[in-house]
Amino acid sequence: MMLARDCFEAQRSASRRNAPSYRDRIAALRSLERVLLDHKDNIVSAISEDYSGRATEETLALELVPTLGEIRDACRHLKSWMEPRSVPVGWQFWPASARIEMQPKGVVGILGAWNYPLFLTIGPAIGAIAAGNHVIIKPSEVAPRTAALLAQIIEKTFPSDYVAVINGGTSVAEDFSSLPFDHLLYTGSARVGKLVMKAAAENLTPVTLELGGKSPALVHPDYPLRTAAERILTGKLYNAGQTCVAPDYLLIPRIRQEEFLRIAPQIVARMYPQLQENPDYTRIIDAAHYRTLAHLLNDARQKGAQAIQINPAKETCDENNRVFPPTLLLDVTDDMNVMRDEIFGPILPVVPYQTLNDAIDYINARPHPLALYYFDSNSSRVNNVLARTTAGGVTVNDCIFHVGQTRLPFGGIGPSGMGHYHGVHGFETFSKKKGVFLEGRWTPLSLLRPPYGGIARRILSFLVRG
Ligand code: NAD
Repeated sequence: MMLARDCFEAQRSASRRNAPSYRDRIAALRSLERVLLDHKDNIVSAISEDYSGRATEETLALELVPTLGEIRDACRHLKSWMEPRSVPVGWQFWPASARIEMQPKGVVGILGAWNYPLFLTIGPAIGAIAAGNHVIIKPSEVAPRTAALLAQIIEKTFPSDYVAVINGGTSVAEDFSSLPFDHLLYTGSARVGKLVMKAAAENLTPVTLELGGKSPALVHPDYPLRTAAERILTGKLYNAGQTCVAPDYLLIPRIRQEEFLRIAPQIVARMYPQLQENPDYTRIIDAAHYRTLAHLLNDARQKGAQAIQINPAKETCDENNRVFPPTLLLDVTDDMNVMRDEIFGPILPVVPYQTLNDAIDYINARPHPLALYYFDSNSSRVNNVLARTTAGGVTVNDCIFHVGQTRLPFGGIGPSGMGHYHGVHGFETFSKKKGVFLEGRWTPLSLLRPPYGGIARRILSFLVRG
């Protein structure tokens, strides 16, 4: 098995020998597209095996399609992204000129999370390859079949000194994050994100941290409640809530809470008439994560919350089959763990609010979320909510779909992450913007050479006056 350090050394010397040209990068991206298409079915089954049941359509819609979209977008625009950009110089420097060149950083490390094990590993690699880097990916050990398949796919597509996958558990991940990469992108929890950032600091390696948090969905009283409820519950129940940008909790006008509680079970029952034998309803990744969700629920119940489990066919759902029923939680309070930790499962706390200002204050009293969902048809109110809240990204009148836009930067803020990728934003993250100043044959700066005399003093007093 290849060691991360050996692979890194090989990639570093390869990257110093010559940076991949435009043609090399397009060829690499097209090979990646081809191999993903050739292995589409294997990818779907590996991910499903890791989950012991993940909806095929969710793997296609939320992993493969956006990954292919990123490749195709990069191929379409790479030429213009790579183009050096001329910028004006200050008039004092005329006739010199200046430009910005986008240079590959070198070797990029990617530490991926398990919940979307294709999109969160290959996705960032696309930006890194487009930017002309060499790339090593360390998938999450929590999705081992997908991790093994990724290693196999990448190995047969790229030489290991260009793009490689390293697999292993926490100790491999720790070693990996201590390598002197030219850029490191980590996706996962804030707890591990801090460890990764600490390890990277030793090498002054720049990091992009894609973390999580509690993303609110806020519904205005005037917005059609059924439409909002359908979209929020769909976003919450994709991948059984194991989505970093899933709506974590719902802020609903107090006067509409009853109506929501009446229609939400109907909506869920229509989407998932059964849970256990239903291939559309994804399972919880492992028993440990199942127990975490069960503890969150018990803790909330013990502290006075009321849980409404939606299990239309009254099936057995437990740690053994890892089917966790969609659950609404009422009467939640700040001392409950479910209102402190990111839920990352199909539990939706319903928090009633009196006025829109109260709801905004509630959001602003908490750490900046990765995503915010606001449901309202009034554009000035939408703009007001956008201006008064801070979040990694926003979808208005739906959930999740800002993530699928290759033109939008994706990334959190503060505790939900730092830095961006997707489309040109990934290309820029993995590029060094090199400023180049080209001096003219004649330069006015020669008038400022010592010995300083009257001309230099006159020029300087003119420049200081402005
Ligand atoms: P995980 O367990 O899949 O771990 C992510 C990566 O960190 C893995 O590659 C793992 O090997 C590595 N790792 C583990 N311990 C390490 C250590 N000590 N040093 C270095 N690396 C280490 O991820 P997770 O934490 O279970 O993922 C869930 C979290 O990820 C949630 O908070 C979720 O919101 C967040 N997330 C964020 C995004 C995003 O794009 N912002 C996407 C998915 C998940």
